[in-house]
Amino acid sequence: MAIPNSQSMTVLGIESSCDDTSVALIKHKANIHPQVLSLIVLNQNHLHKQYGGIVPEIAARAHSDKLDYCTIEALRQANSKVHDIDLVSVTAGPGLIGGVLSGVAFAKGLSWGIGIPIVGVNHLAAHALSPGLTTECHFPYLCLLISGGHCQFLAVLSPKEYRRLGGTIDDAPGEAFDKTARHLGLPQPGGPSIEKLAKNGVSDRYHFPRPLTGREGCDLSFSGLKTAFLREVEKIHGTTGSVSEQQQADLCASFQKAVSDTLRIKSQTAITQFETQMKQKPTFFALTGGVAANHELRGSIEALCHDNGIKFYAPPLKYCTDNGAMIAWAGLQLFYLGQADGLELQARSRWPLDPNSRPLLGFGKKGAKA
Ligand code: AMP
Ligand code: MG
Repeated sequence: MAIPNSQSMTVLGIESSCDDTSVALIKHKANIHPQVLSLIVLNQNHLHKQYGGIVPEIAARAHSDKLDYCTIEALRQANSKVHDIDLVSVTAGPGLIGGVLSGVAFAKGLSWGIGIPIVGVNHLAAHALSPGLTTECHFPYLCLLISGGHCQFLAVLSPKEYRRLGGTIDDAPGEAFDKTARHLGLPQPGGPSIEKLAKNGVSDRYHFPRPLTGREGCDLSFSGLKTAFLREVEKIHGTTGSVSEQQQADLCASFQKAVSDTLRIKSQTAITQFETQMKQKPTFFALTGGVAANHELRGSIEALCHDNGIKFYAPPLKYCTDNGAMIAWAGLQLFYLGQADGLELQARSRWPLDPNSRPLLGFGKKGAKA
């Protein structure tokens, strides 16, 4: 990547597109890895718990309440002052519009107040570029982005150019983990709860589908899997009146294995598609997003990459879930490529990374979501 001068850049990254308010300060100098000076993440789980899902209005208010605190804290922990910041980078979409607006408005105020440039970042691009925070990754590479709201295979061609090879046609895997956990009355977020119980379970006790694996292409579906899980829980309730601890563990292990098998099989298809479309084999496979925290899944995709002679990398968990550091890093790379937005920067609820890809879900009057 061409870096304009030998000076270092200090970037403030702001994330508020879903239910995490996060602000980070990173520093970067040519030819060395970026340094994350501080990272603040305030989760809103406690505010949404009683509603069984994220309430957009509550999320937006909580973001605008906490953004100034998070920024002050990020500066304090980095032992820095507001005038040390060279660039403000902010998630400008896709996401819950109230939250995105809170972040964008805050970032504009800050950039105008201290007279520094602002860069609006696509949240999905920031996930796809997040491996660069902690490792060397050369373009083009293959990325599987799996989180609470997203699921896509991407060929990452440059910080501003992506090709979507496939994605979910309904639920994201994190959403499936969360809803499945809810059926068993387990704490949210559901992914870690399921993974914990699955450790004591037998993964072939219950037979769940591996959706769309018999079809060509690398699109995915998790909605039917979630329903199959609910049916099994109802069946057990119907016969024994309750679900024993061992049955819960076996259900979780079988579900987790079904998700992991499905993603492994489709990852193989994505590797082949990448090779066909890019006319070169991927040398690097990045697993990003919150669901990448799952050890069974990491192990399975890592083994697949090993068999294909591809380097596997999943960033540390704090950079996998929604965080300001990945926003700062993505914004800086765009800035190096000449992007600088002004006060006209718009917040977008929908913002597909690959504008040429066909819509998978959420396609309405305003176009594809992500
Ligand atoms: P994100 O949307 O990137 O912030 O990630 C949050 C999502 O990741 C939630 O849906 C979680 O349930 C999911 N998640 C977090 N940890 C795990 C895990 N160990 N296994 C599976 N899913 C997980
Ligand atoms: Mg995310």
